[in-house]
Amino acid sequence: MQNTKPHACLLASPGIGHLIPVLELGKRLVTLHGFDVTLVVVAADPSTTKSQLLKQVSSPYPLNLVLLPYKDITGKLDPSSHMVTRLIVIMRESLPVLRSTIIAMKVRPTVLIVDLFGTEAFEMAREFGMLKYVFDTSNAWFLAATAYFPTIDKEAEHEHINKQEPLQIPGCKPLRFEDTLEAFLNPDDPLYVEYLRIGIQIPMADGIFANTWQDLEPKTLGAMRDRDLLGRIIKAPVYPIGPLVRQVEPPVHRSKILAWLDMQPSDSVIYVSFGSGGTLSTKQITELAWGLELSQQRFIWVVRPPMDHDVSGSFFTLGSRRDDDTPDYLPDGFVTRTQKVGLVVQMWAPQAEILGHSSVGGFLSHCGWNSTVESIVNGVPMIAWPLYAEQTMNAALLTEELDMALKLRALPTNGTLVGRMEIEKTVRKIMEEKEGMAMRARVKELKYSGEEALSKGGSSYNSLSKVAKDCEANLLQVLKAKAQ
Ligand code: UDP
Repeated sequence: MQNTKPHACLLASPGIGHLIPVLELGKRLVTLHGFDVTLVVVAADPSTTKSQLLKQVSSPYPLNLVLLPYKDITGKLDPSSHMVTRLIVIMRESLPVLRSTIIAMKVRPTVLIVDLFGTEAFEMAREFGMLKYVFDTSNAWFLAATAYFPTIDKEAEHEHINKQEPLQIPGCKPLRFEDTLEAFLNPDDPLYVEYLRIGIQIPMADGIFANTWQDLEPKTLGAMRDRDLLGRIIKAPVYPIGPLVRQVEPPVHRSKILAWLDMQPSDSVIYVSFGSGGTLSTKQITELAWGLELSQQRFIWVVRPPMDHDVSGSFFTLGSRRDDDTPDYLPDGFVTRTQKVGLVVQMWAPQAEILGHSSVGGFLSHCGWNSTVESIVNGVPMIAWPLYAEQTMNAALLTEELDMALKLRALPTNGTLVGRMEIEKTVRKIMEEKEGMAMRARVKELKYSGEEALSKGGSSYNSLSKVAKDCEANLLQVLKAKAQ
């Protein structure tokens, strides 16, 4: 018998930051709208296995998971290429196997949903007669800049990039030069060319999802719908469907970290983490360690070995340790001196669980969008420490529009060192002072607005329901045409 449920194929590009929101979208399509979902994940490195992936995403989920094998792109790119360029080329090289995967599916999907790095698969969707959606796993303002940039004239580009003037995006917050996307800066860099292409392909979708919600970014979302503003360029409908974050299951065993948090007072711990790939220089790690220690606040710090010339270096070996278990890149005796108030976790921590714990009252973050949304849904104010990708834009949004994060005076993205005194002062401010308290109250309001958006009848719930109806109507048409 012919399947009457829409079958959606979701394509996630390498990296946990892409996988998590795509997976959550897939779950919602299955559980709320009765879709069949096949989640196709492109491997980030040769050692990725399906069971590893399932563990990472805390299976089981009611969807099919397909792992596309890692594509070795050595020789296809300059070894010094930007990590995002590498990611895009891996996606491009994976298209043939995506094609054969779709062809081999028992029930051919009628819907293709890709993240921003998968828009080249649209051609395949067209060929197979599938509806095609793009999922911006970040916020609407970033989407606005990405889709708008290819349409600006040479003069406006010159003003922004060479004269360092703000980029005026119709109806949106202007994008200051110091917050702009790295991809816009150098027309000779392949990253620039790839971003232009992505910006051009976004409006070709049948719809655009974003991990945001109406009350979080009303102005930008409004501009995208307005045909006199950004809607003229982004012709496709934009569907805010957030906040989508990894759902935390109640743990079977309380981990050491959660057990430690259980013993701390409410809202007393600052969580410090730079996402899945963020790294600091040796000097910067020293300053951060001293800043945390001097602040005398409770903390959990996810540390990684220093990288002096790469803020996004991802896969590392653990550094050697000193007698007191201080990794050798932290100041001598740091772990011993701070053991009553702090926890140093090497490489990776269960972030969603940590942010969801009532003892956590602040988050010093690289402002990756998943981390940001996880902070909002748990009502935790932030200190913005952006490192790469669209994180400087996110930081500007959080500190200036949403008023839920403190800014650092030094801009880490310029390679400027953030000094220990500034860190000490800012950490105290977010954890103890009036300004921090006001931000905590503000972020709680955002948390409630996010809950409302996702609840039945809320704006994000309705957005996804609208898409689900379109996909069902399209399937019926396909079935009718087949029957004739
Ligand atoms: N994450 C985690 N533990 C870590 C570091 C990161 O669980 O030690 C998760 C985090 O909760 C988030 C994702 O990895 O869901 C990182 O995504 P984000 O967009 O914040 O940053 P990216 O790593 O993509 O820069």
